[in-house]
Amino acid sequence: MTGAKLPALDAHAHIAPDVTQGQIAALGNAVVFAVTRSLHEADQVKNRRDNSLVWGVGVHPAVAAARAVWDAARFEELLGSFALVGEIGLDRRGGSWAQQRSIFHEVLTIVRDEPVLVSVHSSGAPTEVVQHLHDVNVRGAILHWFNGDDTDVKRAIDMDAYFSVNAAMSEEQLRRLPRDRVLCETDFPARKVRARTPADTQRIEKLLSEAWSISTGEVRATTWWNLRTLSERSGAIERLPEKIADVLLYL
Ligand SMILES: [Zn+2]
Repeated sequence: MTGAKLPALDAHAHIAPDVTQGQIAALGNAVVFAVTRSLHEADQVKNRRDNSLVWGVGVHPAVAAARAVWDAARFEELLGSFALVGEIGLDRRGGSWAQQRSIFHEVLTIVRDEPVLVSVHSSGAPTEVVQHLHDVNVRGAILHWFNGDDTDVKRAIDMDAYFSVNAAMSEEQLRRLPRDRVLCETDFPARKVRARTPADTQRIEKLLSEAWSISTGEVRATTWWNLRTLSERSGAIERLPEKIADVLLYL
């Protein structure tokens, strides 16, 4: 399939757990990774079978209410219903730093050997997040909106990490990330990214096409190839909705 024919791929967005079939249909054939912020939200979506959405089970580091009801046993129970873990991570301004670190460590320890994709938040704490990946030996995490420096990027790649990038990121940061490690995201409804809908990846694909001197169709094909590599290595391809696994297999 050529890049121009491939659906848009959004590797990190926030979608309401009660999203309707009509709203999903409005996204066309786009594929969206829909992270959740709390186990309660994950519980609401665990039985949904949406062909174009990959729902995540997460505990957002900056959401105190989500941290307060964190329950490792409940998380493990939910995990089997998901191909994606997210949103998890650390947030420098999210409060209760020690609690954030202990939850993140616990989550990583549980997901380390599971066939899942893992979307990680690292706002203000890229070095600490990468250190956690090393400490727990978690390979193939997807670092979302990652603003670490060259050393952080190198250490992340030592752990086979990927990066989901958006249109609010600087050109300098985008150029720091190797092409075979990049996925696109909107972090919808984050205002700074200015995506009109989930899967509105046009602006970031344009920025990458300029940074990499290739067409936007080639950017899209590259990101799908990257997802294929990661999904096969992690085993998550077995849990992805069939429609998405088919796109990957017929690339
Ligand atoms: Zn997010």
